Amino acid sequence: MKTCLPRLLPLAVATALTVNAPFVHAATAADPARPAMPARAENAFLSQVDAAARAARVSNVDYALDFTLTGKETFSGTTTLTFDLKDANAPLTVDLDKATIRSLSVNGKTVAPRYNGWFITLAPSDLVAGKNTVVVAYERPHSTNGEGLHRMVDPVDGRVYTYSHFEPAAAHQMFAVFDQPDLKATYRVTVSVPADWQVISTTRETGVAPAGDLRRWTFAPTKKLSPYNFSMHAGPYTMWEDRSGKYPMRLFARQSVAAQIKPAEWFRYTKAGLTFFDDYFGIPYQFEKYDQILVPDFLYGAMENAAAITFSENRFMYKADMTAEQRARLASVIMHEMAHQWFGDLVTMQWWNGLWLNESFASFMGTLATAEATEFKDAWRAFYSEGKQRAYEQDQKTTTHPIEVPVPSTQNAFDNIDNITYSKGASTLIQLRQLLGADVFRKGVHDYLVKYQYRNARLDDFIGSLGHAAGRDLTGWTKQWLYEAGVDTIAARYTCKGGKVAGFTLEQTAPSRALPTLREQRVQVAAFRLDGKDYKLERNVAVTYKGARTQVAAMNGAACPDLVYPNYGDWGFVKVQLDPRSFDSARTHLAQVDDPLLRAMLWQSLWDGVRDGKLALNDFLTTTLNNAPLEKDYTLLGDVLGKAVTAKRYLDMMDPQAVYAQAVTRQLEDMAWNGAVASRGNDDFQRRWFGTYVNLASSRPALDRLAALLDGKASLDGLAVNQDLRWAIVRRLNRYDYPGAAALVEAEGARDRSDAGQAAALAATVSRPDPAVKAEWLATVQDPQTKLPFSKVRTAMEYLYPSEQRAFSEQTADARLAQLARLDKGAGPVYMRTYGAVMIPAGCTPKSVARLQAAADAGRDLSAGTRRALLDTLQEDQRCVTMRQALTAH
Ligand SMILES: [Zn+2]
Repeated sequence: MKTCLPRLLPLAVATALTVNAPFVHAATAADPARPAMPARAENAFLSQVDAAARAARVSNVDYALDFTLTGKETFSGTTTLTFDLKDANAPLTVDLDKATIRSLSVNGKTVAPRYNGWFITLAPSDLVAGKNTVVVAYERPHSTNGEGLHRMVDPVDGRVYTYSHFEPAAAHQMFAVFDQPDLKATYRVTVSVPADWQVISTTRETGVAPAGDLRRWTFAPTKKLSPYNFSMHAGPYTMWEDRSGKYPMRLFARQSVAAQIKPAEWFRYTKAGLTFFDDYFGIPYQFEKYDQILVPDFLYGAMENAAAITFSENRFMYKADMTAEQRARLASVIMHEMAHQWFGDLVTMQWWNGLWLNESFASFMGTLATAEATEFKDAWRAFYSEGKQRAYEQDQKTTTHPIEVPVPSTQNAFDNIDNITYSKGASTLIQLRQLLGADVFRKGVHDYLVKYQYRNARLDDFIGSLGHAAGRDLTGWTKQWLYEAGVDTIAARYTCKGGKVAGFTLEQTAPSRALPTLREQRVQVAAFRLDGKDYKLERNVAVTYKGARTQVAAMNGAACPDLVYPNYGDWGFVKVQLDPRSFDSARTHLAQVDDPLLRAMLWQSLWDGVRDGKLALNDFLTTTLNNAPLEKDYTLLGDVLGKAVTAKRYLDMMDPQAVYAQAVTRQLEDMAWNGAVASRGNDDFQRRWFGTYVNLASSRPALDRLAALLDGKASLDGLAVNQDLRWAIVRRLNRYDYPGAAALVEAEGARDRSDAGQAAALAATVSRPDPAVKAEWLATVQDPQTKLPFSKVRTAMEYLYPSEQRAFSEQTADARLAQLARLDKGAGPVYMRTYGAVMIPAGCTPKSVARLQAAADAGRDLSAGTRRALLDTLQEDQRCVTMRQALTAH
């Protein structure tokens, strides 16, 4: 899966452990008085203990799934479930969420369902040791929150679209199932749908026949799959096909957005990826076809359903030619999901604690495939600037966690699916590949996939395969990197004599007393000399360091450097503290550093300095104003401009009316506008600069210019103001209460009636600095009975309190904190992930920090995920106050 929330803020596990874990008894099997396994807890979730007990009894699972979908709000289905049971001594549960059961039969006998709305309990007397058949006929409303079998009515043409999404454990929102990854099964699907619908599933259909007003589709049986990897999507989707590669490829999207999809690009990257992965893994792609479906209201970025991958359509719709950035993102998401077809779908984790390895590995392999099989050779550099920085940020939070953590129940399956899981995990795999060598690493992966295909595996199995291929014991490495949280810091210490290095040491420090682990790691240490205008590489040494101090004798005798970077080439996962001379070089001569990855790392060192309160924000912005316009590397320019926009957001959090904030905002606006003008003829650069301009514009002259561009009174040579840009401008104008902006939202909504247009209009509406708007929408998003689909609620939350609208945020801050416990109890983890990320009030003042601290002290009963969000907001608010003091002190 590819996540897409601005930040996911989940947390460890302590509370749920006590709620869900049944009593674990010490009696052995030989004990005749052994107490029976306690009954499964009556709630919406499945505990690891209950799942393991079920998996120990059940095997050879097959589902015959029959569905009838009419386009209405409810669908019906019949699940015929066959399986082998080890013993009929105890009840057995089958998961099925919020359905109305029409009939239940067990081994041919009709029985009255014992059903609590979450799972059916089958009585031992109805079961037999050996083969069992259970048939459940039911009805159920479609989901509208993106899980289960989601239904959406297209506002443009009234057509109905459905798709399934199951990860982590939502298959039982669609059919009766043992909804746990280690009960892999085969699936045979028949489905009746309206005549103009397509149906897409793991296999291809073997027949489509009339069935009354509907048509009945029959699909070939699947290979063995975990329930969360099975899928079925149905609706009047537009289809594109390409048979030019080894595997037939299809792409689907809603009819009303079809013109905004670029199928040729999809097929190009898909074909390149399938060739690459077949070769890399040494195991051919296991399915007969490769389908990709763009779907609306999707909760995440994309999902690796076996051979029927879903993508969040709004991230892949283009109203103009795609920019290089958009193509790079498309390629990398396609590759990520494709990597999962082997790692995740073919070999699957046993339980949700192993989900991180799926995601780490797919992030790692997705980047590798993008770098090696597409035109985006700098994919690793993009990973450094995006994923890896988010991992460093999260690993420095007080709430950080080890990569591998226990997951007591499905309630906690996504608690730790975050930047640690995806990007720190991927970074540790990069490091492991450096440590073992690329060929050994690849062989270990191949062996692992062959050994465990169509089965489930655990971390030890993966590490064991790599260790075996390398001929070394990886126990110590695993403990340091996967079971211990936190990022260490390295610094180079050296002395020079007579212009030469006379001693060189790498010093490693742990983040805190609470996280004392020092690690072993292989990195490159590079020294540079300033030669006229350019930095020249003087010496580059690969070194495996460990412990607090490691001598690097190979550096001795090098010319005394002007710049030392101790993680050159980005092999290591480590925070770099530049020595004072190197830090000064970075600040004053950034543009003279030739190597774009090193330049990116130096920019990052400066930004780290800002976030740690060691470099004033104004110094960073001066460096940005001087150097960003000189940046000719497209990927790095995106990184630097992103930092500039974030810096502006910090200034807004502090005080948007401050004299310095106003002055530097105008300088930043001018920089971005001039960048857009100067890059006329280079569409990628021009759109990158102009997008930044829209994100920075807040002075009256800049807003005037945006308004003029919108109504065609002004133009920027080379730039087409397409519908997406029009919405970005309208939102910006309304956010700053530009005269007439509310009417512009109305007018634009009338021009663009698509659901993307509705979402954009909503974002523009809620961001308006108007107390009545804020009150109305706060009430709506906090209303558990709201009729709005969750995708809209989420948009409203994300845009309700922009950074500069501190006063509005402040007015409702206490009320929002007061509601936290109520919402946390009733609204569910999907809702709370967004609420926790964007609705907990920060203010960048000592008072707001104290308020969050008080809420944290009082909120010890919050769910793990919500409590983590609260603590993260607190820490980030403290950081903002520190940065504010550094700015004031300047
Ligand atoms: Zn993934």
